[in-house]
Amino acid sequence: MSDNLVFPGDKIASIEEYEAGHNTFDDGDMVRAATMGEKDMDKKTRMINVNHPKLLSIPKVGDVIIGKVAAVMSSMIAVTIDYINGKPTTSKVECICGTRNMRIRNVALVNDIASLKIVAHLNGTIHAVMDEPELGIIFTKCRKCGGKVITMRDAIKCTDCSWIDERKLSSSFGKSDFIHLRE
Ligand SMILES: [Zn+2]
Repeated sequence: MSDNLVFPGDKIASIEEYEAGHNTFDDGDMVRAATMGEKDMDKKTRMINVNHPKLLSIPKVGDVIIGKVAAVMSSMIAVTIDYINGKPTTSKVECICGTRNMRIRNVALVNDIASLKIVAHLNGTIHAVMDEPELGIIFTKCRKCGGKVITMRDAIKCTDCSWIDERKLSSSFGKSDFIHLRE
């Protein structure tokens, strides 16, 4: 299962081999994922779909979630939850994570994928933190050009335009074994 997990923008196959189906797009060369989910390659119809996680639930205090950054504000980010303790959810519940005390230029960008720990439910809002090494951003792109980034000590660098930036990266950033968060 976990081998099929794809992130937005991931290349899945050449457009000569497959057609873009649900939750995918073709960039003129490759079929890419438009959302995070499980890829489903139909060999008969030559169609690729990405199936978004489909279960409803609300995270509890102590749960680790993975989700997409929906909004970045001056002192917090909002994250739409896709996975709770590794289990997919489509409830589209949001949590917020304070970023005020982090000395990082761009803790996260909209559409980054973050791993957070739920710490409280307060007035109907789910509060999360990312202040542990394994928590933080597990997928991001260059803020200038949308290119792929690699880590350089505490910073990230774009492989296309060389823009250097910062994020609160998870220790799982750039490793395929972050999948263990899903188990
Ligand atoms: Zn760039």
